[in-house]
Amino acid sequence: MQDNTTQYPPTWYARSKMPFLEQPALGENVKAEVCIVGGGLAGLSIAWQLCQSGVAVVVLEAKRIAWGASGRNGGFVSPGFAGDIDDVERVSGKERAQRLYQYSVLGAETIRTHIQDFAPHCLMGEGKYSVSRYPAVESMQRTADRLTQDYDDPVEYLDASTMRSRIDTDRYFQGIYKPRGFQIHPLNYAIALAEKIVGCGGRIFENTPAVSLELNQHSGRHNVTTSAGAVQAEHVILCTSGYDNGLYEPLHQSVLPVSTHVVVSEPLRPEQLDWVKTRCGIADTGNACDYYRLIDEDRLLWGGKITTARTQPAKLDQQMLAAITDVFPAFADLKIDYRWSGLMGYCRHKMPLIQQSEDRLWMATAFGGHGLNTTAMAGSLVASAISDNDPRWRDFSDYDLVWNGGLLGQAAVQVSYWWMQAKDRYLESRARNTGS
Ligand SMILES: Cc1cc2nc3c(=O)[nH]c(=O)nc-3n(C[C@H](O)[C@H](O)[C@H](O)COP(=O)(O)OP(=O)(O)OC[C@H]3O[C@@H](n4cnc5c(N)ncnc54)[C@H](O)[C@@H]3O)c2cc1C
Repeated sequence: MQDNTTQYPPTWYARSKMPFLEQPALGENVKAEVCIVGGGLAGLSIAWQLCQSGVAVVVLEAKRIAWGASGRNGGFVSPGFAGDIDDVERVSGKERAQRLYQYSVLGAETIRTHIQDFAPHCLMGEGKYSVSRYPAVESMQRTADRLTQDYDDPVEYLDASTMRSRIDTDRYFQGIYKPRGFQIHPLNYAIALAEKIVGCGGRIFENTPAVSLELNQHSGRHNVTTSAGAVQAEHVILCTSGYDNGLYEPLHQSVLPVSTHVVVSEPLRPEQLDWVKTRCGIADTGNACDYYRLIDEDRLLWGGKITTARTQPAKLDQQMLAAITDVFPAFADLKIDYRWSGLMGYCRHKMPLIQQSEDRLWMATAFGGHGLNTTAMAGSLVASAISDNDPRWRDFSDYDLVWNGGLLGQAAVQVSYWWMQAKDRYLESRARNTGS
């Protein structure tokens, strides 16, 4: 076994990753109680929770662990979902929405506990600001009140002048400070989880795409086949997200892969560091959602831009620099050292798919752009459902497999992104021209 970093995309995270021995590819037939397909943070979180309960687990990962979104995301951890809590409340009712939100809090707290227990090197920053790029006093105040009072997530509303005293840009108006938010090195966190799994007897097979899945009616066990072996397991959990290859067609037809992009700058000069001012994570409330944070002491990590096209835009550096200088004009001469793209998995309802569709065939996927806390949450809910019959996962039953519309659905999502982004631009330019 040898370490082979070249298989990870050329991200800043891969450059700063901790050593981890490449795990073997599956080359024989094996048995396990649980077979997890997909070694991102969803698969690894569930595997680690199951290992702790003494369940025999096999993880199959097509490439390297956390090669997908999990090892290349923004690293922002905070309670909540990709879907808006108002929509969750409309669909599920207030009581269930409150329970779901508390699970999302549990997910963030689980990562914090893991970091304290075995991965302190992964913690990169504390706190998160959500900021509006146009005046939104009422809606920001209402969101802050609702999170604090109805969802027991104490957050702080900030008026425009307070916001601007904390981040030096006149692009921002009102904001919300989320003290429960924090930032991590997601690839190193995944590696720390994988080490715990392997150390506890769990088996991870890398470079092992699962190619077929069938239920043996006679034995009642699932058979997951790969090119050089197979896993027979009582439970199978699909955690393939935006990189799904069609192993289980109903899932493939439900999850829409959506691209998003990240750049990391050259080291900033001291005066440039002062413009950003804060070491918290910052995300705007716009539909394209630009987010950024300082990493590696003095580099700017900036993410955003959402498209349904799966390729990296040819002029990604220029596009991201335009977004950066729109907020901080003084960054005009900034050089970009790293750039990459990744796929998020979205269902039409924008909520995680946490389901058991047939006998012991599970799905824990589609966490969208809010997948750090929610993959850890899925780890707790699905693992305890399997090991202890914990029924909490059933609270996600309102968010089932639903056809993503195929190519037409993809086009419709792209058009709706463009529409929402155009609306944001209009509101921003009106704010610039009139100050309101
Ligand atoms: C650029 C970017 C920035 C983001 N920023 C944030 C953020 O700051 N905060 C946040 O909360 N969320 C963020 N997200 C979202 C978050 O990263 C994801 O929701 C989360 O990582 C999903 O984890 P996952 O394990 O479900 O999927 P993934 O990490 O994508 O893992 C799926 C894995 O399944 C494997 N696979 C697929 N098919 C097979 C098969 N047949 N056999 C074996 N293996 C298979 C793939 O190789 C892949 O490794 C971001 C996402 C991206 C792309």
